[in-house]
Amino acid sequence: MADMTNSRIARLLLAGLLVAGICAAGSYAQSRDSSSEQGAAGEPYPQMPSVAPIGVRTGKYMDVPASAQGPAVDPAKGYRLQDLGGGLYMVTDNAYQSMFLTYDRGVVVIDAPPSYAAHIPQAIAGVSDKPVTHIVYSHSHIDHIGGAKSLGERPVIVAHDETLRLLKRAADPNRPLPTVTFSDRYTLRVGNKVLELSYHGNAHEPGNIFIRAPAQRVLMVVDVVFPGWMPWRRFALAQDIQGYFAQVEEIRKMDWETLVGGHVARTGTHTDVDVQAEFNADVKQAAATALASTRPGEGLNPLDKANPWAGFDNYIDRVAAQCVNTLTPKWSSKLAGFDVYVWDQCYAMEQSLRIE
Ligand SMILES: [Zn+2]
Repeated sequence: MADMTNSRIARLLLAGLLVAGICAAGSYAQSRDSSSEQGAAGEPYPQMPSVAPIGVRTGKYMDVPASAQGPAVDPAKGYRLQDLGGGLYMVTDNAYQSMFLTYDRGVVVIDAPPSYAAHIPQAIAGVSDKPVTHIVYSHSHIDHIGGAKSLGERPVIVAHDETLRLLKRAADPNRPLPTVTFSDRYTLRVGNKVLELSYHGNAHEPGNIFIRAPAQRVLMVVDVVFPGWMPWRRFALAQDIQGYFAQVEEIRKMDWETLVGGHVARTGTHTDVDVQAEFNADVKQAAATALASTRPGEGLNPLDKANPWAGFDNYIDRVAAQCVNTLTPKWSSKLAGFDVYVWDQCYAMEQSLRIE
């Protein structure tokens, strides 16, 4: 028995090394003809996608297409300021994005990513000598607002009710609690400037709001659309996948010219949102087709028959592999990071379609 186990482990390791060796050579492709034995213990599946699965490291990920790149950040400054018009500015380190709005007596800061929040006062000082009077939180996540404390104790912090609830629970001194909250809509008027805050339900996480600057025709929605890029893994860790799909459609229908998505190296256009919606529809279709055409238990090692977790893992892996294979020809060169997260998107979509 011990020998059998050892020999199986040895075969698994060998398969792992084989995969690693293929990946290091820069092409994971290992599709085999359909007559090869299916699901033998320790053997990779037939028709495995050319994109490396989760957990398998490649020598080099696919190149980032020009369409996903943005203006360079001056390394000496550590941030880039983009004038969005009407006293509204985007601050970015080309990985995170936040905004601030200047008015006659002060400045409203919208999000403070800790990666560059220390530079926000300097960025403001370049265009205004007024103090920060308000902070708006897009949502509770630390990677977007964890630098708020470094902007000093502010009298007014505006956020959604759910963000207050989550921040009370987090009890993080770097994320001071909101002092003004709302459940549906809130219009923030400062001087003669306006920000329209609205809530469209759970998608990325409860309390994640839309921030619209109507005069500047700018919409900021964080962690939903990633211009030029794949969404972060599992549709940006959306807590509600169907809600996430619905929010992409809402963003699409709204009136704006510039989208600030909270991430990546550039702002977005309506075309970017159309592309994301098309990708979402394609993932949904690919996962639905794979679910309908994949038979549970097929190719499962008979020795694993009494292990239901193994049975599901085998089934779900084959669904995801088919989903990835379907998407790769159209999307691998169209969205940056396709190879990084396509498996995650297919797993998330499979799960959502199968049980929600
Ligand atoms: Zn987030």
